[in-house]
Amino acid sequence: MNFMEKITMVDLKGQYQKIKSEIDSAIQGVIDDASFIKGKSVADFEESLKIYLDCHAVIGCGNGTDALQIAMMALELKPGDEVIVPAFTYVATAEVIALLGLKPIFVDVDPDTFCIDPDKIEGSISSHTRAIVPVHLYGQSAEMSPILELAKKYSLKIIEDNAQALGANYQQGLDNYAKCGTIGDIGTTSFFPSKNLGCFGDGGALIVNDQSLSKKIRMIANHGQSKKYYHDLVGVNSRLDSIQAAVLNVKLKYLDEYASARQQVADFYDDQLDQLSWLQGPTRSDFSTHVFHQYTIKLKIDRDKFIEYMSANSVPVQIYYPLPLHMQKAYFNDKLDLPVATSLSDSVVSLPIHTEMKDETLCYITNVIKAYEP
Ligand SMILES: *Cc1c(COP(=O)(O)O)cnc(C)c1O
Repeated sequence: MNFMEKITMVDLKGQYQKIKSEIDSAIQGVIDDASFIKGKSVADFEESLKIYLDCHAVIGCGNGTDALQIAMMALELKPGDEVIVPAFTYVATAEVIALLGLKPIFVDVDPDTFCIDPDKIEGSISSHTRAIVPVHLYGQSAEMSPILELAKKYSLKIIEDNAQALGANYQQGLDNYAKCGTIGDIGTTSFFPSKNLGCFGDGGALIVNDQSLSKKIRMIANHGQSKKYYHDLVGVNSRLDSIQAAVLNVKLKYLDEYASARQQVADFYDDQLDQLSWLQGPTRSDFSTHVFHQYTIKLKIDRDKFIEYMSANSVPVQIYYPLPLHMQKAYFNDKLDLPVATSLSDSVVSLPIHTEMKDETLCYITNVIKAYEP
């Protein structure tokens, strides 16, 4: 099949074009002020995101990986401490654990939500365990209630890696929900350009509900200083730049609209692909809304051949993630058997999904998939 326009996994140019004048003037404002570090736009954005998430504080930092590292430093995790993470996630989650001399303990994931399986956590808790890092993968929340109970029972801290689900709600009861990232001790997020709320370079933030923790995080992210040239803690240099914050301030207003655009794409895919027995679409759990950072299907057929076919028809697809963390060279652990993470790594494929997808493009993509003869 043939399609005139080039299909892409994300469309950052199209998204920018729609809000170009607002973004350009926000950036120009920072340049005119020359307030490149810790400018007013940073404080404004932290305040707006705090209100959006309904939490005590948001603290900007350099990127989502730094946010995880700063969270672990603020919780005073010490070398040798064990931190429980899902085996099926982006590497950043485990990387900072290892960098700080902590030990990542990989746990298997749920075959439907792709997030850490709460039933598999307790068996991995030891006397050295200090924290759990659930990752809200692809845009929906991990099942937090049982994780919160375990954390209470064993006095563990929870850091939510919310790089992929900013704006999603975790449903705690009928009328009782909380935004992902505000449920544990600390939430972290990333503003990498292709994330649901993306800036024009690197950016990240920490989300906190505790006043003393938020003060400490602010210090750690800025060289551990309480006031200029007085360093009470060992810190890092990880700040959100003013230009990125200005961009984010404009885009935050559209975050819910962006989420609905993604949900509409997901609904269309669900509807069109439902009849195909050789694939399984993403599950929408009853405890979370889904902001569809990715639309990821599981294939019951040869994945390489399918990808080759899609590429021959000019439809890009991606594999997030082709190798679970416990099988990566840097984190290899052959004693672990995590069958769900391993089988997902062999069978998942993410389809194009973004805020600017046109009906014709979606029809073309689903027609290509429906015409496949495995
Ligand atoms: C993107 C991402 C990160 C890291 O964010 P950066 O801003 O790229 O450092 C961490 N965890 C997950 C799950 C991610 O998707």
